Amino acid sequence: MKQDKKPTTDTGMAGCPSGGTCGADCGTCGEAEATAANLPVNTIRHKILVMSGKGGVGKSTVAANLAISLALQGRQVGLMDVDIHGPSIPKMLHLEDAEVTSVDGHIQPVQLAGVKMMSIGLLLRDRDAAVIWRGPLKMGAIKQFLEEVEWGELDYLIIDSPPGTGDEPLSVCQLAAPLDGAIVITTPQDVATADVRRSIAFCHQLDLRVIGVVENMSGFVCPHCGTVTDIFKSGGGERMAASMEVPFLGRIPIDPAIGASCDDGRPFVYHYNKSETAKAFAGITVPILALSDGENAGGAKPAENTNQETGSMKIAIPTAEGKVCMHFGHCEQFALLDVDAAGKQVTGKTMVTPPPHEPGVLPKWLHEQGANVILAGGMGQRAQGLFQENGIQVVVGAPAGTPEELAGQYLAGTLVAGENVCDH
Ligand code: ADP
Repeated sequence: MKQDKKPTTDTGMAGCPSGGTCGADCGTCGEAEATAANLPVNTIRHKILVMSGKGGVGKSTVAANLAISLALQGRQVGLMDVDIHGPSIPKMLHLEDAEVTSVDGHIQPVQLAGVKMMSIGLLLRDRDAAVIWRGPLKMGAIKQFLEEVEWGELDYLIIDSPPGTGDEPLSVCQLAAPLDGAIVITTPQDVATADVRRSIAFCHQLDLRVIGVVENMSGFVCPHCGTVTDIFKSGGGERMAASMEVPFLGRIPIDPAIGASCDDGRPFVYHYNKSETAKAFAGITVPILALSDGENAGGAKPAENTNQETGSMKIAIPTAEGKVCMHFGHCEQFALLDVDAAGKQVTGKTMVTPPPHEPGVLPKWLHEQGANVILAGGMGQRAQGLFQENGIQVVVGAPAGTPEELAGQYLAGTLVAGENVCDH
């Protein structure tokens, strides 16, 4: 494969980001045309826009942590920062010095914490330069991000758009169509303002589903005892969502560890995954995971995860002393639960003893046992990939419980996957 140089031009983009529509004489449109013939085949199952009425409410923080939380639960995730004027994702994740390369004319996303990322901030030569682009140029950049970045196979592309209802969210809605929907971020103080309602109205006008509202900075987590105190009145986001007849996805408290993790360049949910705040992020992923499931929980995709001939499903759960075992490779037995996919009922359970632990053995063995889904406490990225290669969907961060309880929650759509606790 050809390893090209960093894909920058005078505007900091590969080729003219406007695709020639801006009328600027930058001399790069020929290059844009040349690469267009080589577009990578991206398969992106779900595209979600993250919006807010105004800046500073934690939109980028929520977008980045949701993306990482989904990746921790075994999903293939991309994070696209289309905040052209104030791209904060690279800074937040300490990726400012990351080198973006292009291979065979395809821009390679930067990878961190299991998430593929691309931001205009990664492509600008001078990261402090103000970007002065009009609508068509911004549209070209967003188009290029969607078409020329080699995202590959993704379950989710989370798109962090600038605050408000300007060119960028509009361009995303046009260029990335069909989108699954938008998540609107607000703070408790912000909910009464017209801005957030405008974001929701924007979605309605564009026929874009509002997946839900997240109330960020809702209460304060004491760094000493972990107690959450409502320093501003919380709950307004939920009431506002109810009044606008859109779902409410949950609250994220003000957690000093979020700011500290930004300062240290350590993605918050990845490094502090045992915290209550990380669990709050994981809770918000539940309805997002349900998008793949036809509104099932935990990320099951019944069409893919059921036995095509019988319509049934088999859920594997590693156990020790009758409960889920956090280290699947070292469990005593696997519970194999038969599910009538149509009725979403557990119809039987078999306990099976796995072969001696060796890397790569269990995914193949569970595939032979007919498993379609594994609910595990923790699992490393490599093992998750091996299960997926064997056609087994992985849900990590399953809470303590018996196999029947977990399978029941999973099928009912109430399983809240928490931290990926694998330390192997
Ligand atoms: P936006 O994208 O809405 O402009 P950011 O995500 O950049 O907002 O967040 C603004 C600032 O607030 C950042 O410094 C971020 O670390 C901080 N922040 C966001 N959410 C939280 C939270 N829940 N707890 C603590 N700090 C937060």
